[in-house]
Formats: sequence, structure tokens, C-alpha cells
Amino acid sequence: MAELLTIPRDLLPGDGRFGSGPSRVRDAQLQALLAAQPGVLGTSHRQAPVKDVVRSVRDGLAAFYDLPDGYEVILGNGGASSFWDAAAFSLVERRAQHCSFGEFGSKFAAVTTAAPFLEESVVRTAEPGEVALPEAQEGVDVYAWPHNETSTGAMAPVVRVAGDDGALTVIDGTSAAGGLRLDPTQADVYYFSPQKSFGSDGGLWFALVSPAAIERIERIAASGRWIPPTLDLATALANSRQDQTLNTPAVATLVLMDAQVRWFNDNGGMAFATGRTDESARRIYRWADESSWAETFVTSHSNRSTVVATVDLRDPLESAEIRSHLKANGVVDIDPYRKLGRNQIRVGMFPAVDPDDVSALTGCIDWLVERLVT
Ligand SMILES: *Cc1c(COP(=O)(O)O)cnc(C)c1O
Repeated sequence: MAELLTIPRDLLPGDGRFGSGPSRVRDAQLQALLAAQPGVLGTSHRQAPVKDVVRSVRDGLAAFYDLPDGYEVILGNGGASSFWDAAAFSLVERRAQHCSFGEFGSKFAAVTTAAPFLEESVVRTAEPGEVALPEAQEGVDVYAWPHNETSTGAMAPVVRVAGDDGALTVIDGTSAAGGLRLDPTQADVYYFSPQKSFGSDGGLWFALVSPAAIERIERIAASGRWIPPTLDLATALANSRQDQTLNTPAVATLVLMDAQVRWFNDNGGMAFATGRTDESARRIYRWADESSWAETFVTSHSNRSTVVATVDLRDPLESAEIRSHLKANGVVDIDPYRKLGRNQIRVGMFPAVDPDDVSALTGCIDWLVERLVT
């Protein structure tokens, strides 16, 4: 490959991190970490200083989502992937229906499908870049799908299945939470990890749970089903109510998370956070739609994610080449999802990303194209 080009400094984004998770951490979050030394960091998670942080995150999320009466915020260790295992044990009574239109939806479907104590899962699929929607079906007691499929940049509506009142709606909000609007009454369980819109480190999961979900969790726990303690949502529920986790959490991650939730809420909550992602999305999709050598991967406008944009590049442009020039200039993590295997860039536009930085990114790519395509 030829020498890497130096992009003029005034074209570069203020912050060159566009990852889809882990994602950009704001300086103010690191200031919060410094402020937590020595009062919080390095102290017991069973004592008030850490429990106060957990309480603040739980209250902050309840405020951000304007949670209805009876809904609770619970948390535990292991991230969204562990939550899939916990959900198979503690939420699915007999049979789950999954919508699978990318890597993450398919992974959760694989978990319940392989669980020997459940009936075989129903999996509704769609091609990458499209979305599959749930359909009422007898015998199904959990409907599960991702709000935002991070691997493809397709987002799906979160609306309960009509005509199946006893079933739970269980939504993977990992890359959506914080950056996409949600009516929490449309889900029984909305779970996510902190390393996407919340700009924190990974390793924890959070979930908004409805009264029906709590009833299900407690009923399955009482049923005698064997559940490993770290995957038992009844245990997570009991600990969360005391602002604790079963085993030791990453305290620094909780502090980073708390700082981000406060930033959202202090500036207008969901309207503020989603206003930023909407604006970033407007800019990148307009750029891709107007460009003769780029094309938005997700064709349906309503399914184009406003937090993770996927843009195909046309010959003779090569994503790998563009990315290596950008990387040499400090602009990183716009690699496509590897298993998708497309000549594509994937841009994380979580609320911490300034929409002006998205414009700067597209400007940098235009600048490179002028020099690389002759
Ligand atoms: C990142 C991601 C996950 C996995 O999260 P972990 O915290 O790494 O387990 C699951 N689902 C979606 C939609 C994601 O974007």
C-alpha cells in the first residue's frame, strides 16, 4: 500500500473514536473517576459509598426512562451476553420466539435453542440490513429481539406482540439504550451493557423489568428449576433492591456509568440524548445518499439505525484502505462487522459523539477520496 496520507488538522474530528462498543468515554467521566478517589474506589461494595453510586445509577435510569409504577432497574455482572444465559434460566418458561437479523439476535437465539430444559426456540430471521418482527404464536412465553442490531446497523420497533397477553417481551437494548427512544411500557425486560451509549467499560448488565417480568422471575425461581447462582435473576433482583450485586462489581465502571446517566438527565434526558444521535444520523445518511461512491446499507429509512450507521463503499474505494489512512490520523474503529464481509464502514454515533465530529469524519473521507480515486 502507498504511503499513508496526512489529513489537514482542521478537517479532523475533535475526537476520533467512532467505535460501536467499547465507545468513546467522555473526559468528564474520567473526572468523575478521579473524584471517586478515595471515597468510593477501593472501598467495599457492601458499604454506603458504593451502594450510593448503584442507587444513583438505578434512580437515574428510572428517571431517564420515566419508568411506570412497578418497573424496577436491576443489574448484575457479565454484560449482555451473560444476560442471555440468565434469561434462558430465569425468564423463559417453556418456549421462546426470537427475531434474528444479525449477530447479536442470533446469539441469544442460539442460547435458548440449546437449553436442554426448554422446548426448541422459534427463530424468525431476516437478511442482514433488514429486520424480522415477532408474531403471536401459541405456546411461546418470551418474545425476544434486539432494538438495534449492532452488527448490521438496523433498528427495529419495540412494540408488544398483539394478542399474546401472558407472554413477556424481552428486548436487547445493548447498543440502543441511551441513544434510541423507548416507550418502556412496550417491554417487560429491556437489558443492556454500559459500554455503548453509556460510554463506560463493559462487564455489567442493567435491565428495566416490568411487574410481569418480576412475577415470572420469582415463579421460575420457586419452581425447582436448577439455576446457577450467578445467572439467577431472582438473586439479581434481591441484590439490586439493596443496591448490590451477588458478587463484586467493577466499581469504576459504575462510576463512569453514573456520570453518563447524570449527564443525560442534567441536559434534558432522553430528548437530549436522542436529539444528538438523530442529528448525527441525519448527517451521515444524507452524506451517503448524496455520494456517488457510498451507499447506505440499510435500505428501509425507518430501519436505519440512528446509533450505528453502516455505509457500503463502491469500487474502486476500499474500506480497508480508507480505514488505514484514517487510523494513521487518529480516526479509529469504523471497521465493518467482520462476519458481514462487506466493503463497508460502520460508524458508532452514540450520544457522546458530537454530530460535528460525524460531519468531520465524512469530510475526511471525502478528502481522502479526492486523493485516492483518480
Ligand atoms: C455489544 C452487544 C452485545 C454484547 O454485549 P456484551 O456486553 O459484550 O456481552 C449484545 N447485544 C447487542 C445488541 C450488542 O450491541
